[in-house]
Amino acid sequence: MQIHRLEALSDNYIFLLQAPQTGSAAVVDPAEAGPVLAKLAELGATLTAIFNTHHHPDHVGGNRQLLAQYPNAVVYGGAADRGRIPGQQFFLEAGDRVEFAGRQAEVIFVPGHTRGHIAYYFPPVAGESWGELFCGDTLFAGGCGRLFEGTPAQMVESLGKLRSLPDTTRVWCAHEYTLKNLQFALTVDTQNPVLQQRFKQVESARQQKQATIPSELGLEKQTNPFLRWDQPVLQQAMGLADPLRTFARLRGQKDQF
Ligand code: ZN
Ligand code: FE
Repeated sequence: MQIHRLEALSDNYIFLLQAPQTGSAAVVDPAEAGPVLAKLAELGATLTAIFNTHHHPDHVGGNRQLLAQYPNAVVYGGAADRGRIPGQQFFLEAGDRVEFAGRQAEVIFVPGHTRGHIAYYFPPVAGESWGELFCGDTLFAGGCGRLFEGTPAQMVESLGKLRSLPDTTRVWCAHEYTLKNLQFALTVDTQNPVLQQRFKQVESARQQKQATIPSELGLEKQTNPFLRWDQPVLQQAMGLADPLRTFARLRGQKDQF
């Protein structure tokens, strides 16, 4: 399975999954149809599936137009997003499995950003080390999604599920927010050499207009404050001894950053 990263809208990424032999392709969170149709034409591939993580327009905005061009494509989304995702045919719950290109993805229920948000996790194929995580607006490189329809407790539980995946997991999140996220991270985690090093790399990548996605989950665990609510250094920075309140305060500060 080959993964192509497409730029969309102002800072979204759409991920196009290409099956090596069959000529079929799937797309994760088509913000808009244009870049997907162009890439499908370039690859000579046929769209067979749309995997949505949640219902926001910058994630499902291309569904209708893609279905008009590829009426046989099936649309997957979370069960709790019923009625909110255009063309949705599959209503996925925690632990469900979906298949593409001979690989199975596990559906992880990750409410918090929205109440129906799901993530798709493809474990590594035999003999390889990298798994692939499509996590929409739940986990970002260096950050996490805003809490539009959920509580800090829900988001901590959701991010905890993602944090429990192997370090060798590529994080395919849906926005290029990394630089701003790490600028915030440096204000709350001031003595972390791995974070400082990462910031320099991301800063220079963005100066050269390079994408910072996918990131690696192992690095996220070391540098993303929103995966580190239970670290004493972050609790101290927030002036709290409670992990959940630490997370909530971090999220609140980031909202104002
Ligand atoms: Zn969203
Ligand atoms: Fe989004």
